[in-house]
Amino acid sequence: MLEDSFGRKHTYLRISLTERCNLRCNYCMPADGIPLSPKSHLMNADEIYSIASTFVKAGVTKIRLTGGEPLVRKDARDILKKLASLPVELAISTNAVTTDRHIEDFKKLGIQNINISLDTLIPERFKQITRRDYFEKVYSNIFQLLEHGFNVKINCVLMKGVNDDEIIDFIKLSEKHLLHIRFIEFMPFDGNRWNMSKLVSQQAILNCVENVFEREAIKRIADRPNDTSRNYQIKGYKGTFAIISTVTNPFCDSCNRIRLTANGQIKNCLFSANETDLLSTLRGGESITPLIEKAIQGKFKSRGGMDTLEKFKDPAQHGQNRSMIAIGG
Ligand code: SAM
Ligand code: SF4
Repeated sequence: MLEDSFGRKHTYLRISLTERCNLRCNYCMPADGIPLSPKSHLMNADEIYSIASTFVKAGVTKIRLTGGEPLVRKDARDILKKLASLPVELAISTNAVTTDRHIEDFKKLGIQNINISLDTLIPERFKQITRRDYFEKVYSNIFQLLEHGFNVKINCVLMKGVNDDEIIDFIKLSEKHLLHIRFIEFMPFDGNRWNMSKLVSQQAILNCVENVFEREAIKRIADRPNDTSRNYQIKGYKGTFAIISTVTNPFCDSCNRIRLTANGQIKNCLFSANETDLLSTLRGGESITPLIEKAIQGKFKSRGGMDTLEKFKDPAQHGQNRSMIAIGG
């Protein structure tokens, strides 16, 4: 069992398949892009399978594929197939630009939980945020996934003055549709020009909801163990909404996550400056298990050591971290 020094058991592995993406979300990717790793430095499909199998033997029960955009990888189907043969719950985070091409595979491979990025319901705004013109495609693909019975969560990163006027419109989408809307506090990563004034806090989101809906109509739903979100439902609505407040109210105490970047490094926390190179060791024919155990043991109690809001707000503390696109959110 991958247990850290605070007794947290790590059963959830997030694997980034690529640093590439067919969108350019401005909160995720710096305007000039990022220097991409050479292909030979990235894990191939067999290496992903081999590293994932080691994690599963060590107790991982859930794997989520992310990126970059995992579905831009030409061998994404092959990777999904290999990982689906492991005894784990397999899930994916995607921007849904191409999910229509993968519906049958998802079904065949038992991939049920699909998280989709969507930060606005306004096509022109979508173009500004993502620097690409795919709103219609993404929007129709979301409803196609719902029609096929997938469990769809929408991840919406809120930024002040950019899309915080859409909180209620997003929640209203869950009235007739079994959609789970998750508002994510904007987080700082290398090159995304984060500052506290752009943040829409958990409290601000709740205030906005309470201004529109009666208090009794806003139901707090029980969170599942290791949930990173605080979950709510409007009375009579089919879907739900949730808040992921990594900045103002982190959920590190129950963290069960570990991340594997596309170039085979583990990050024991989204915000950790340190990484552990599994890929070189695997390629050298040695066991990666001791490295994994050591990385878990070295995990900080909270946000890679930035345990207070003051530390988190200090740009110097984030200098060592990668852009989100290169971590795998
Ligand atoms: N391309 C896929 C997608 O967009 O869902 C998977 C990768 S993306 C990096 C994973 C998640 O990270 C997305 O939900 C995205 O909104 C979130 N994310 C990226 N940058 C972020 C930031 N600065 N603050 C909060 N969430 C962020
Ligand atoms: Fe691409 Fe996802 Fe990052 Fe947007 S959030 S740029 S879709 S990886």
